Amino acid sequence: LASRKKHPQNTIVNIGKVHFGDGNLTAIAGPCTIESKEQLFAIAEAVKASGADLLRGGAYKPRTSPYTFRGLGPKGLEYLLEAGQKTGLPVVSEIMEIADIPLFKDVDLIQVGAKNMQNYPLLEALGKLDKPVLLKRGSGNTIEELLYSAEYILSNGNPNVILCERGIRTFEPMTRNTFDINAIPLLKELSHLPVVADPSHGTGISSIVTPVTHAAIASGCDGIMVEVHNDPACALCDGQQAVDLNGFAQLMLGAREYEKIR
Ligand code: PEP
Ligand code: MN
Repeated sequence: LASRKKHPQNTIVNIGKVHFGDGNLTAIAGPCTIESKEQLFAIAEAVKASGADLLRGGAYKPRTSPYTFRGLGPKGLEYLLEAGQKTGLPVVSEIMEIADIPLFKDVDLIQVGAKNMQNYPLLEALGKLDKPVLLKRGSGNTIEELLYSAEYILSNGNPNVILCERGIRTFEPMTRNTFDINAIPLLKELSHLPVVADPSHGTGISSIVTPVTHAAIASGCDGIMVEVHNDPACALCDGQQAVDLNGFAQLMLGAREYEKIR
């Protein structure tokens, strides 16, 4: 069902006035994790002013260590919906388990994180909704496995799937992950589904997020997802890869230029 052979035209995933897969670049931005109302609102206003189309923010975080900050849970989602309403931006947040689906009823785009790419019962449950799903590639998963995971959602009746390349684990220790640029044009060739690039997790280093974002745009992605923080040094999660508010404004100026020339 994900294959372009059987479905040659691009699938467009519509989220209100925002579209993924229509040929234009769509930008998702916001903090890795919602830390407070003040933090989220400051970031939301700034990314909106810089041209973001959707606001992201994690409330349920799949942290490597259970002793680190794991998100504000329902309170975080409440702040996210409020910030979305205030700025007019649709919102994106990560779900970790089936039982939480009712909490996400007003979230515009549900994210399945890399660590849950092969949580098949979760994928099947999301397939029974008509809400758009942003499906991230697992750090140890192949492109084929990502496409089979998309099938779990599509085959249950939900056609609104967006694929996301967020880097894979390789032998290179200087970066958090190796952003697999090949995946962007290859996924576009193999599938009709929209493709989003996440250079934040793909690099893990804020200083190289902007050039890698621009490379992903040049390679044909439909959207980008960038982690932005108003005070990266004090972020409770993923601060080392967060661009600051100014950095995001610069990133977006370049993004629009790369969008024009591709
Ligand atoms: C995230 O988007 O904050 C996240 C946890 O990403 P990933 O699932 O790609 O690690
Ligand atoms: Mn993150």
